[in-house]
Amino acid sequence: MSVVQHVYIETFGCQMNRSDSEHLLGLLEEIGYQPTSDIKAADLMILNTCAIRGGAEDKVYSYLGAWQKVKSKRPGTLIAVGGCVAQDTAAALVKRAPGVDIVFGTHNLHRLPELIALTKETGAAVVEVMQEPVDDLPETPVLRLNSVSAWVSIILGCNYNCTYCIVPYVRGRERSRQPQSIIQEVEKLAEAGFKDVTLLGQNVTAYGHDLEPRIHLGHLLMQLGVQDKIKRLRFITSHPRDLSTEIIDTVATTATACEYFHLPIQSGADNILRRMARGYSVDFYRRLVDEIRQRIPQAAITTDLIVGFPGETDAEFMDTVSFVEEIGFDSCNTAAYSPRPHTPASNWDQQVPAAVSSERLRYLNSVVTEVAHRRNKELVGRTAEVLVEGRSVRNPDRLTGRTRTNKVVNFPGPEQLVGSIVDVRIEAANAWALRGDLI
Ligand code: SF4
Repeated sequence: MSVVQHVYIETFGCQMNRSDSEHLLGLLEEIGYQPTSDIKAADLMILNTCAIRGGAEDKVYSYLGAWQKVKSKRPGTLIAVGGCVAQDTAAALVKRAPGVDIVFGTHNLHRLPELIALTKETGAAVVEVMQEPVDDLPETPVLRLNSVSAWVSIILGCNYNCTYCIVPYVRGRERSRQPQSIIQEVEKLAEAGFKDVTLLGQNVTAYGHDLEPRIHLGHLLMQLGVQDKIKRLRFITSHPRDLSTEIIDTVATTATACEYFHLPIQSGADNILRRMARGYSVDFYRRLVDEIRQRIPQAAITTDLIVGFPGETDAEFMDTVSFVEEIGFDSCNTAAYSPRPHTPASNWDQQVPAAVSSERLRYLNSVVTEVAHRRNKELVGRTAEVLVEGRSVRNPDRLTGRTRTNKVVNFPGPEQLVGSIVDVRIEAANAWALRGDLI
């Protein structure tokens, strides 16, 4: 009789990484590992890393130091490190953190079961990082951690070369999955009772450009929209240059495609956008937002912003602040620029002092919060269609769910509503969430 083993996984970074972790758990389930939230009960500990922000490596080594202590009390436990930091630093990880048994990269997570077998057999650490992605995207099993909403990766990698971004280095060039395989995965999700699917990609709006015949994200959304058990379809992250009129039109005309666009602008100053090599101007972005709002007036638009990019002047920073106010973003992810290895901007002069960046970030956050609060207050008194996802973690007396525009709504209600779509009258709002009552 085989003995069940337990895996504890810690995931840093974005939804793509969290989706990768669900695939790792799916692969491991096939060889007898069950997930656990108790690190002390784990036979295998996995750190799925992210290298987008500075300080990523320090964070990894700090976790590994703590994990080695856990491992010393439970001999035989394995430590594996994957994701972008592993892809970038590979063998150095094992040297600097001797308790690590397995290092795998971003292109070969499907190989983890074999790497586990190898390290168990030899008793030695195994490092396997592929520099090039495999030609055919392997279909890997997945263990979903949520029973209502699911992520589905549809494209990996990115063909842009933004001067601050490490993603093209660690994730490679764009590779789209075949539409048929995505449709089958979504059909299975529908059969399993999922209601909400988010299509993922570092640049999801480039989906299908590398396929033969070439298709675009709108084609895929239309085909997925036929599946009526899936009530909501979203996609992240879009690149403004690739969000075409066809895609916007498909969102407008596909009942299940949600009125939500996460559209990173990064800066509100043309000079900085040029230096970032983003490939669009502020005015291009403004016209894109106009197009979305003309076609889909109720759409929520969110963005990403970087402050303190090399050479950013006070005036250019204030252009970003003004742009946030002008557009009225529903929410913004903000960050101070941090130099990443293998990126051009990390070698440039004119690095903005950390104290200046953090002061700009503090000020920008205050404006972003005010604008998001204003946008949310507009919904008070209205009725929102909410997909109930579970109990609120902060206030377990309440249920929590999201609107079609991806706004979090908390309200009192019975557990059996989880997984259903209900009407909630919005009574109050802050910058991050709405509160209401069932109708
Ligand atoms: S488009 Fe996004 S993922 Fe691609 S290089 Fe630019 S910031 Fe990185």
